[in-house]
Amino acid sequence: PATVGVLALQGDVREHAALLASLGAEAVLVRRPAELAEVDGLVIPGGESSVIDKLSRIFGMQEPIRIAIADGMPMLGTCAGLIMLADNVTDAIEGQESFGGLDVVVRRNAFGRQVESFEAELDVPELDGGPVRAAFIRGPVVESVGPAASTLASLPDGRVVAVEQGSLLGLSFHPEITGETRFHERFLARVTARKSRLR
Ligand code: GLN
Repeated sequence: PATVGVLALQGDVREHAALLASLGAEAVLVRRPAELAEVDGLVIPGGESSVIDKLSRIFGMQEPIRIAIADGMPMLGTCAGLIMLADNVTDAIEGQESFGGLDVVVRRNAFGRQVESFEAELDVPELDGGPVRAAFIRGPVVESVGPAASTLASLPDGRVVAVEQGSLLGLSFHPEITGETRFHERFLARVTARKSRLR
């Protein structure tokens, strides 16, 4: 089977690793460039994007991840992970950088503070099996979707909360917390497809 990595610098790494394992994927934790080189896809977890950014530079991971993105490695980013995959971030902290890859502008902490966390049901036309139960925890909103990216899901008020572009998938919410498996399955399908293409 394909080997998938979870970027394990900070954030809800375990939840993603457990969900991937429950789907039959071999999930490994990735902290170093040599570990990234061993995986066929990467999950960037929720957490705090400014910390993930800082640690990724300290660990020499920023450039290798950017190269992997340019190379077409499938990636799934949730919440802080979406921020890391966005080309443009507003309300970032001073000097904060992202990996980029998704032609979108995201606004950090767009839904307010931790206590304003909420769950919502989302229609995701691309996914079979009914609406998605989504947990929002200080998540970002996608403020604009550029021509290269496409919207996967929006809140009833129209705010975009899931996008994809090529092999990249970015979500404002946390499917790994509500037991929603379909985004991870979508990601894993891409990982497997790409792996068989490269073989
Ligand atoms: N507010 C966090 C950030 O800016 C994201 C929160 C989350 O990942 N749950 O990175």
